[in-house]
Amino acid sequence: MHHLQFPSLQAVFRHFCAIAAIPHGSGNTAAIRAYCRETADSLGLSAKEDAAGNLIIRKPASKGAEKAPAVILQGHLDMVCAQLPECTKDMQTEGLDLRMEGDFLFAEGTTLGGDDGIAIAYALAILESDTIVHPPLTVLLTNDEEIGLLGAGGLAEGEVEGAYLLNLDSEKEGEFIVGCAGGARVDMTFSFRREMVSGVRATLSLTGLSGGHSGTEIHRPLLNANCGMAKLLSSIAVPMHLCTWQGGTRDNVITADATASVLLAPQDQAQVMAALQTCEQSLRQQYPEETQLHLAIAWEQDVTCSALTAESTAVVLEHLCSLPQGVTCWHETLHMPKTSLNLGIVELTETSLLAVCSVRSLSDSERDALAETLCRAAQSHGGTARCHAAYPAWDYVPDSKLEQIACNAFTACYGTKPQVLTIHAGLECGVICAKCSGLEAISFGPDLYDIHSPRERLSIASTVRTWKLLLRMLSDIAAISDGQA
Ligand SMILES: [Zn+2]
Repeated sequence: MHHLQFPSLQAVFRHFCAIAAIPHGSGNTAAIRAYCRETADSLGLSAKEDAAGNLIIRKPASKGAEKAPAVILQGHLDMVCAQLPECTKDMQTEGLDLRMEGDFLFAEGTTLGGDDGIAIAYALAILESDTIVHPPLTVLLTNDEEIGLLGAGGLAEGEVEGAYLLNLDSEKEGEFIVGCAGGARVDMTFSFRREMVSGVRATLSLTGLSGGHSGTEIHRPLLNANCGMAKLLSSIAVPMHLCTWQGGTRDNVITADATASVLLAPQDQAQVMAALQTCEQSLRQQYPEETQLHLAIAWEQDVTCSALTAESTAVVLEHLCSLPQGVTCWHETLHMPKTSLNLGIVELTETSLLAVCSVRSLSDSERDALAETLCRAAQSHGGTARCHAAYPAWDYVPDSKLEQIACNAFTACYGTKPQVLTIHAGLECGVICAKCSGLEAISFGPDLYDIHSPRERLSIASTVRTWKLLLRMLSDIAAISDGQA
């Protein structure tokens, strides 16, 4: 284990274990913030907690690097809490059970919080060390990233300053992320009065779809279950009454299953069955990757229940079918989605139908234009709409000074070239850069697998290599003496 002698590597894992013992799901970050703050206090470093729950710690440069460009080291405090159905842990109050298997560190039955605990551990180990060479440092630990970049969004303008932002919230070693899409949420609401209706009830369950993250999978030819359900119901050419609809719980997840029920006249049953089967076949042809697509239709005779009027049902379906889904604009030079939309949630209650979309774009004006189109479409169908939780894109700066520094450090450590790329998922860099003029940013991190799931695991060897890379970048920046970025 000679690599554990690398500067302060043991401190990285010591802090990582301490962090895992402190419950720190989104919205429950007071204790982890206190741990980081106490670490800073014990080192005599200045620490500030802002109104949004971010923690900002400053450390002067190591000797001789006082004039070097200042660096902001950044990660987020919160983690996604997810656990296996059989796991009985209360993640609000209990720490994680860390395990090691081969090269992997994971937590028994739950998410590991490697996203983004490894960033906190790296940062605290650097603060603690008196041998690591680094420029003037600000450690920015943001609050509640996982539930809408809340801490970064609440960061005051000018609160942090620096030339370079190193965001440690990426999960693939060998990649430097240098730009990402921005996003927003659009909530569309349709209110109506229900009426009592009698007839046969058809309950449709569309299941077995791939699903996935709307930032990383949206370019794939996948069927969103809410869109599939809207198409199925629209294929019914006779008057009907919508009773129920439930599809999805998160706007940024491509919906993998949806269930809806409608009331029909008994004499239409055979015709409706045929229409649904035809539509199902055409969905299979349109989405050949969805090999597990499954449509179940259950019929109940002589049902009386409250449902939407036939007119309201038709209007709502027309609206949902009119929404684009997936990539609406492709970026020709970056070869990636430029703008996209995901109908993540459809929920029918007693008095209203709520449809929630996640909009993403590399262009803030395109994001706003698409959100505006959605709002108008909802209004033209008698609904109301609200665009919120907007955050800016992180624009790629070609050949930035920081990109050169990072690539040179990588080549020095690995002997190969890194991948430099822009992604469609959201990172905090754009939000932070918008509040700190002249800041260049880059995002990287060690290999983490299956984040946000109980299978999350961290590669220990990758954590060690990435630590060396991070220290190399800091010492290279420390050697820049003119203080100019
Ligand atoms: Zn993260």
